[in-house]
Amino acid sequence: MARYIDAVCRLCRRQGEKLFLKGTKCNTEKCPVNKRPYAPGQHGEGKGKRQKFSNYGLQLREKQKVKRTYGVLEKQFRKYFKIASRSKGVTGKVLLQLLERRLDNVVFRMGLGVSRSQARQVVRHNFILVNSRRVNIPSFLISKDDLVQVKAKDKALVKIKDNLELSKERSIPSWLEFRAADLSAKVLRLPEKDDIQQNIQEQLIVELYSK
Ligand code: SF4
Repeated sequence: MARYIDAVCRLCRRQGEKLFLKGTKCNTEKCPVNKRPYAPGQHGEGKGKRQKFSNYGLQLREKQKVKRTYGVLEKQFRKYFKIASRSKGVTGKVLLQLLERRLDNVVFRMGLGVSRSQARQVVRHNFILVNSRRVNIPSFLISKDDLVQVKAKDKALVKIKDNLELSKERSIPSWLEFRAADLSAKVLRLPEKDDIQQNIQEQLIVELYSK
């Protein structure tokens, strides 16, 4: 499956804010957004302050931010938007809920991967059960009352436990009931916008796609 191959830190610098794509490095002084708070490339620093954007530019950047945060490509993102716009709920909120319900995101929220891309690998490598069945599709959508569990041994299990240790600063959202003893989480309810701590203006994305 196609993925972003651009150096991920450049994506944050272009966005002008942290997207937390690298895991532990993101909260250290080594984060390039701290060290070089200007756009990447030859002319990035020279511009001094950041460009001002038109309304369209703002909408586009918000969409890019959310896509990159969740590691979703344009085609898939549009698909989520289509589903959200046809649903009964508020389109922007349903869109965010769909992204949060992805299995790779759930594994990330459980702390089993230090970043979403690492969590995606955990899923792809067959280390995750949903309701006792192996699921290796990162875009699989979890539902209320699902039970997500790790099924790994030896080196893989050690690695996942290491990830958990490295992610312990990140709190596990209240819609998941996490049990460290068997590395499992029950989905108590579906996630809401307020559960996502990142500042996302989903209305801008709705406006962009509604043109
Ligand atoms: Fe973004 Fe993390 Fe890289 Fe900082 S370290 S630029 S937050 S991916």
